[in-house]
Amino acid sequence: MGNDALRSLPSVDSVLNELAVSEGEDCLASQVKSAMVRELLDELRKVLSGGAGASIDISLTSVAEEAARRVKAFGELGLERVVNASGTVLHTNLGRAVLSQEAIEAMSFAASGGVDLEFDTALGQRGERDARTEELLCHLTGAEAACVVGNNAGAVLITLNALAEGKEVLISRGELVEIGGSFRLPDVIEKSGCVMREVGTTNRTHPKDYRDAVTPDTAIIFKAHKSNYEVVGFTSEVDLPELVGIGRENALPVVEDLGSGALIDMSTYGLPKEPVVAERIKAGADIVTFSGDKLLGGPQAGIIVGRKVFVDRIRKNPLKRALRAGKLTLSALEATLRLYLKPNEVLRERLPTLRYLSRDIEEIGALAIEGAELLSRALGKDYKVKVIDGESQIGSGSQPMARLKSKLVSVTHKEGRDASFIFKAFLKAKPAVLGRVKDDSFLLDMRTIDKASDIVPSGFLGK
Ligand SMILES: *Cc1c(COP(=O)(O)O)cnc(C)c1O
Repeated sequence: MGNDALRSLPSVDSVLNELAVSEGEDCLASQVKSAMVRELLDELRKVLSGGAGASIDISLTSVAEEAARRVKAFGELGLERVVNASGTVLHTNLGRAVLSQEAIEAMSFAASGGVDLEFDTALGQRGERDARTEELLCHLTGAEAACVVGNNAGAVLITLNALAEGKEVLISRGELVEIGGSFRLPDVIEKSGCVMREVGTTNRTHPKDYRDAVTPDTAIIFKAHKSNYEVVGFTSEVDLPELVGIGRENALPVVEDLGSGALIDMSTYGLPKEPVVAERIKAGADIVTFSGDKLLGGPQAGIIVGRKVFVDRIRKNPLKRALRAGKLTLSALEATLRLYLKPNEVLRERLPTLRYLSRDIEEIGALAIEGAELLSRALGKDYKVKVIDGESQIGSGSQPMARLKSKLVSVTHKEGRDASFIFKAFLKAKPAVLGRVKDDSFLLDMRTIDKASDIVPSGFLGK
């Protein structure tokens, strides 16, 4: 029986011929199609020889249909839109900051032709790739020098390697963070070729702990922003000015990994205060590193600012070539930074991250009412849709405990289907909509939604 079925499996050529009949102009190359058809037939052969073939249809039409579906899907693979109604403004899994129109246009411009990325047209010779962003970064942070790499993990890696390879790095036990996605500070310190010298205890570290740990092998004092957790209770940490003092006494640079690193004081927008890069530079940090796509609201990038002697060493390090940012990143970053030169209100209007974070609760509420109405109509009478109060969070390790009051659309099924069913159905829709499940409800946070209709995927959810 198995063998009969195997024999009646269509041939590669017959399936390819069938495919050729049905496909439009936008076809894939024939070698791509044959590879996919072969793969499909191999799969079927395995199923059939496993004896489970009785129930599957292996007629030419049916196999060709499946092949056509796969070929079409393969030709269309790409990043797909996921509407962020999760309540996490900077969602790492969705690509963090949504870029400003200015940044999008700058990227598109850079993508579509040659640009003076690393070429000085005035002098007719090779230029410095980070020069333009450096000027802006220095202006915005008060630092003497700056350079840019692919992300902040890379910024930390190259900084440690350039300033402390083969030597000791002092770091408080209370700051040995894991950021997620396998970024653990102790591992990064090791990979950068440095020796980690832990100081103090998990909950308390004192100035004396640093002073006692300094040896002729010490190269830097490192401070990490505790992005995604807080130590509460009987705690004590050495603040930056004091650490800078200890650094100066011992001629050691102080490096701070700020993680999010805000360029402006978020509290002027009614948000919880996050360390501001300019304030850390002013307090004496020799190098500060932070991400481009967290609170800054730009593209994925790692930004290094600080004293020129140290930035120069980082720039000349061979890892810089390995970690350098490309023209798309640099043009988007530059355009984002230029928005910070504008008045507060203009920045807030044009920078999506800041707009979402500082959004007025009335505005979110109005959007929620409109969204709930649209959704209620689309889902029909079996679903109960209403607006409720809720909370959003910043995300990407900024102020992990902070909650921003928000308005949410809550969806429940009147009988039977639980919230996780609805959660999955919204993810399967086109475009996918990411909400969250809380207790028995499926929730859509409207803080990060631009138009109410964005939470209503077209044609989905069997009622
Ligand atoms: C987010 C974060 C990083 C990693 O930054 P990426 O830009 O994601 O590479 C490193 N350190 C801290 C403290 C962070 O919060």
